[in-house]
Amino acid sequence: MKEIVFATNNAHKLEEMRAIIGNKYKILSLKDIGCDVDIPETASTLEGNAEIKARYIKEHYGYDCFADDTGLEVEALNGAPGVYSARYAGEEHDSFKNMNLLLENMKSIDNRTARFRTVIALIIDDKLTMMDGIVNGEITTSAQGEKGFGYDPIFRPEGYNETFAMMSGEEKNKISHRGRATAKLIEYLNLI
Ligand code: IMP
Repeated sequence: MKEIVFATNNAHKLEEMRAIIGNKYKILSLKDIGCDVDIPETASTLEGNAEIKARYIKEHYGYDCFADDTGLEVEALNGAPGVYSARYAGEEHDSFKNMNLLLENMKSIDNRTARFRTVIALIIDDKLTMMDGIVNGEITTSAQGEKGFGYDPIFRPEGYNETFAMMSGEEKNKISHRGRATAKLIEYLNLI
């Protein structure tokens, strides 16, 4: 089995990615390769941050690697929180606070249209390839559901009555931003 590093230590993401990618590749986490650096995400775009993370691993550890960056883009907020989704309510990366701040900031806003966008930067040998995945939907007026992570309880994908947090992991993966970006990643990896 080929080995590839997924530049994350987020257990939820690793679990989702391993479930989607199947058994063709063995996915190693940052912990698996002994990397405990919090790679600085200093770019102002999702693309920039994903590339920074993938390049860091290739340069310092030599592994083929992919990295993702995800943002929740709310139309009425001009795309915010976007690239700042993880630290919307401050540097603590607290999902509960982020969600509550977004609900608060949208209290009097009728246009609830939003989308999740995931960008993946893949480096195989020295070649960089970018892929993305989008799911359109809307922000609910209160948190619903216990599953998933991050903003899942307040995001309802288009065409569904349930938030991501009310769906099984399998259901979410089929339509999610990361599921779609990962499908492109797998298609690409199968072709090379
Ligand atoms: P990251 O780029 O994956 O670190 O994600 C940025 C922010 O978006 C974090 O606050 C995550 O909790 C949130 N996020 C990423 N993916 C998802 C998802 O699938 N559902 C809900 N929130 C997510």
